[in-house]
Formats: sequence, structure tokens, C-alpha cells
Amino acid sequence: MAQTGRAAVFVGVGRPFEIRELPIPEVEPDAILIRMSIANICGSDLHTWRGEYRRSATAGDAGFVTGHEGAGRVHTLGRNVRTDSLGRPLREGDRVAFTYFFPCRSCTTCLDDIPNACPTRFTRFGPRGVDIAPYFTGTYGEYYYLRPGHYVFKVPDELSDDIVAPANCALSQVIFGIQQGGLRFGDTIVLQGAGGLGLNAAAVAREMGAGQVIVIDRIAARLAMARRFGADTVIDASEYDTPEARIARVKELTGGVGVRVAMDLVGSARVVEEGLQMLRPGGTYVEIGCIHPSPLQTDASGFVWGNWRMVGMSHYHPWVLPRALDFLLRTKDRYPFGEMLSHKFPLAEINQAFETAEWMGRSNPSNVTRAALVM
Ligand SMILES: [Zn+2]
Ligand SMILES: [Zn+2]
Repeated sequence: MAQTGRAAVFVGVGRPFEIRELPIPEVEPDAILIRMSIANICGSDLHTWRGEYRRSATAGDAGFVTGHEGAGRVHTLGRNVRTDSLGRPLREGDRVAFTYFFPCRSCTTCLDDIPNACPTRFTRFGPRGVDIAPYFTGTYGEYYYLRPGHYVFKVPDELSDDIVAPANCALSQVIFGIQQGGLRFGDTIVLQGAGGLGLNAAAVAREMGAGQVIVIDRIAARLAMARRFGADTVIDASEYDTPEARIARVKELTGGVGVRVAMDLVGSARVVEEGLQMLRPGGTYVEIGCIHPSPLQTDASGFVWGNWRMVGMSHYHPWVLPRALDFLLRTKDRYPFGEMLSHKFPLAEINQAFETAEWMGRSNPSNVTRAALVM
């Protein structure tokens, strides 16, 4: 077994990732060492890269390995691990998908059945840094250390790495979001944003029985893709170029009523303020996108007179991930999941990959729906 593996090390905002050889960690009895196959650049990775998190401006002295969306194979099983999280036999070499957060399962939040909000889901195993074992703490490397307390699920042979890669973040996130948003059979849903989250959400909403799926974005190629992922109607924000115009268009598409569920899949307070105005009385706004500080300016009386609800969530309940894989297996011939990864780069070209995936502040962003690193 190789004694080291390559990883892209994040050494600070505004600085390029550094490709380094890191020691292969010893695998604890309840952990798994994953050999990564593919790792995507998710919107939250862009936030880290831009320095938009409260704490991401400092990467520590040594830097750390980041990245979370992706899939791989079991490289080394801890000696106590014999099955996946559904009790199916697990062997070295098996393809797997996994959660990238580690609920403690014993705090008041976990006992309240909100493991995705467990306060220690990231931190209870100590700090991360490339100078501290297990080194491979993110998916942008040849290996990923799946800590004790993980949830891991075998991936069916019929699903390619490209299709599986978004399952443990984007796809599971929107399945949980739409479910928490209370979408009912025949409802209209508005999806603000047609990147990785929005495209997955269109297909999920369609399959969950939405009567009308409306997708808003300003990039034509993404909107064309949204149609192939089940959108009935798309709104081009460069054509309907004011919030008022987009709100009016949604009202027009819903007989003047508005939508049952609207979702922020962009990550912008202005998008939220706009989406709230698209709700019908009793509608629910699902907030997933704004994971960095995003002060809202909105009239609270809208919630009172509109009887609106707003539901926020981070990550997803672990039950969602195996269902996401089942969903892909059922619907892979109905939607072009394999084409969602629009750009692929070798790990060594991670800096170019981030430059290509960046859309914020770009007057002419590329048509990236998801960029991936292949190991
Ligand atoms: Zn993500
Ligand atoms: Zn907990």
C-alpha cells in the first residue's frame, strides 16, 4: 500500500490550492478509508474558496483538505466495520456514497431527530489540518477519511460515478428540502437557480408529483438543461430582468395565486426577498442556498397576512442518501443526470477548475452546472 496520497490543500483565501503528498492515515476500528473516484465543486466550496464563511479566512497554519460532494470506493475498512449503514455486507473495493457530516447521535438535537443540525457534526473529532491525522478530511484528494459515526451506502453497479457524485450533497439536500417544504401532489414549485441544486430539484419535484415546476436562472444553457430535468416552464432572468417582472411572471403562470413552495438554490438574500413574493397564501419558502451571512430585508407582515412559513435546513437527515441512490436508479433514463457534470478536471488542475466554476462577479460566466475533479 502506498504510504502517501495526493491531495489539494487549501492554504487560505486568495491563494491557489497546493497539490501535496500526505501520509496515508491509520484507520480506526470504526472508520473507513475511501479511495476517491470523483469530487465535485459545490456552491459551498466556492464560498470557502472566496472566503465567505465566518471562519474560512484562516485555514490554519498548515492548511487543510476541503471538498465534500463526491463518491469513491472502500480502500480500507476499519476492523469493526462489516456492513454499510443499511446492514448490507461491505468489502474493500465496493463503490460507496457517504455523508460528509458526523452526527453524535446522543445530544439533545440528535435525540430530537435533527441529526443534520447536531452541533458537533463536524467538530467532535478535533481540528482538521494536513499536519494532523487523519489528514484527508475533505474529498479533494486521492483518499477521504470517513470518520467513525459515518453513514455509508453501497452504490449499485448500474450507476456511474458521474451520476452518483452529486448524491451526497446536492441531490440529498434538495430531496430533504422539498420534503420539508411540504410539496403536495399537483402543487406548483418555483426553483430559483438552475445549477447543481436546481437541476436535481426539478427532477425530484417532478417525481414527487409537482403539478408545475418553474425554474429561474439567467444562463440560457442552464435553463435548457432545466427543461430536460423536468421543468415545465423556465424564466430567463436576463429577459425578465427585474424582481417585479419575475414575480409577475410567476403570478401569471399560477392564475394570479402564487406557488406553494419556493426554494433559494442560489444563495443570495435578494433571491429570498424575491421568492417570498412568489408564494401563495399558506406557501412555504425553503432556504438552502444562503450558507454564509446574508442579511434579509423583508416585511415581516408578509408572513402574517400571507400565512407563510419559512423552512431552513443544513445538510439532510441520513435516511435521504440511500433514497437518493434509489431515485437515481429508477430515473436515470428519464433525466440526463450524467450530463450535469458539465466540466471535468484532473485533481492537479483544481485551481483552473475553481476559476471555471466561479460565477460570482463574472459578467460572462461559463455554462458550468457542476465541475468535477476526477482522481
Ligand atoms: Zn455541497
Ligand atoms: Zn448530536
